[in-house]
Amino acid sequence: MTLSPADTIAQLTALLGANGVIGDPDRMGAYINEPRKRFHQKAAAVSLPASVEQVQAIVRWANENSVGLIPQGGNTGLVGAQVPLRGDEVIVSLQKLDRIRAIDTAAGTMTSEAGTILENAHKAAEAEGMIFPLWLASQGSARIGGLLSSNAGGVNVLAYGNARELTMGVEAVLADGRLYRGLNSLKKDNTGYDLKDLLVGAEGTLGIITAATLKLFPKPEDYETALISITGPEAALTLFQHLRERIGSRLNAFEIVPRIGLDMQLRHGDLDRDPSAGPSPWYALIEVSRMKGGAPGALQTAIEAAFAEGLLDNAVFAESLEDRTRMWAFREQMSEVQSKEGASIKHDVSVPIAAVPQLIAEGSAAALRLVPGIRPVPFGHMGDGNIHFNFSQPVGADPKAFMASADEILHEAIYEIVLRLGGSVSAEHGIGQLKVDLLKQVKDPVALDMMRAIKMALDPKGILNPGKMLRAGP
Ligand SMILES: Cc1cc2nc3c(=O)[nH]c(=O)nc-3n(C[C@H](O)[C@H](O)[C@H](O)COP(=O)(O)OP(=O)(O)OC[C@H]3O[C@@H](n4cnc5c(N)ncnc54)[C@H](O)[C@@H]3O)c2cc1C
Repeated sequence: MTLSPADTIAQLTALLGANGVIGDPDRMGAYINEPRKRFHQKAAAVSLPASVEQVQAIVRWANENSVGLIPQGGNTGLVGAQVPLRGDEVIVSLQKLDRIRAIDTAAGTMTSEAGTILENAHKAAEAEGMIFPLWLASQGSARIGGLLSSNAGGVNVLAYGNARELTMGVEAVLADGRLYRGLNSLKKDNTGYDLKDLLVGAEGTLGIITAATLKLFPKPEDYETALISITGPEAALTLFQHLRERIGSRLNAFEIVPRIGLDMQLRHGDLDRDPSAGPSPWYALIEVSRMKGGAPGALQTAIEAAFAEGLLDNAVFAESLEDRTRMWAFREQMSEVQSKEGASIKHDVSVPIAAVPQLIAEGSAAALRLVPGIRPVPFGHMGDGNIHFNFSQPVGADPKAFMASADEILHEAIYEIVLRLGGSVSAEHGIGQLKVDLLKQVKDPVALDMMRAIKMALDPKGILNPGKMLRAGP
């Protein structure tokens, strides 16, 4: 029997108390509106458990009553995984579980509850002379449980890996309400399937993460940051290889942005001045870390050698924290400034890094053929092959007409190229509700069967984030 909205709210209130439930739709905006404003569905209620036991109580209740639950962290996800799909689901916000339970500097681990905001995890690690190197523009709002569940990437993947690689163990409530106690700080543990790796990246479809043991690293003494002027993605690839040979794993970030991106920044961003050495077709933002006792100037020496070999046109090195902040703001505000140029069509894709130049060349040419006047803005994590392949509407076009005529044909064209180059249609943002049909089309059918079997084994009633990532039917 389906519970009425009033019964849902009354029963949740009995479990959590009045402060643990939001039943008034007027107070749900922060939980149901997502950053890209693409999904507009209501929720039956928002629950705010304050302990692991309360999360267990909600899940047991939902399992008994076949109520769909949507785990939510900071609500910064970009594929609609954390907001309702049907309208009868209950959101489970983990925001009250925000304690750092322990930091072990010798082991290099931090055990944090799922609701900790990433920036607070950064501060806690730094207070102990360590870093937690997951770094992305949403770090002031995104929370540990959401970051792990979407296997977030960001700008340091090159040196430290994505959320999955930064997680040693998780604690999670399963669909029947039992607690999986998988907080683990062992580097070696060959005792069966890696259940942590199932829960990380599962987008809340297999369990609700309540805490995680995360990897910490010694805090670098300093960073060297430079903004390089280059002719294009081919030159960026050669420069990347040159730097990796000389700098190795201390090369933290290698991001690329085309000139149009800088122009948009200068038109709409809050940069007080141009961070670059002047007009150039493309820019690469490069950062290297220097550990305690390491000699300064590694990036400068490597860049000078590259310049002598004709691999780049010009370079500006950050000489102060303000310079570094300005250079990073230029990269981090790309999506924001692009939104001020009207409608845009976005693709979060990855290809083997050697294929990035081909992806950008073919994708831009195809888009211009299909939609004359469209403005390609491919930017992002060149160092790990993840390009945010965005397209701004032609200048002066009607945003609605542009989206109606171009959205689908561009997706088809870009995904065809990505798949032909051996890439992925979702590099770091996940599947959610945005790409659920696409996943069905492009994922290996055997892999899809395995995913469905795992879901069925762990959540037979389908109460955890129903309809996200995997949808029933052919
Ligand atoms: C400005 C901006 C920049 C961004 N930059 C990047 C970037 O560089 N790289 C990147 O990878 N992403 C980026 N993102 C996307 C987003 O920040 C990440 O996906 C982030 O990991 C989501 O964290 P969250 O706490 O907001 O999770 P939410 O959005 O609340 O949830 C995301 C997913 O995790 C699930 N979930 C949340 N908490 C739990 C839990 N405790 N247990 C189980 N499941 C849970 C949700 O159901 C949903 O499926 C960006 C977003 C914005 C707005």
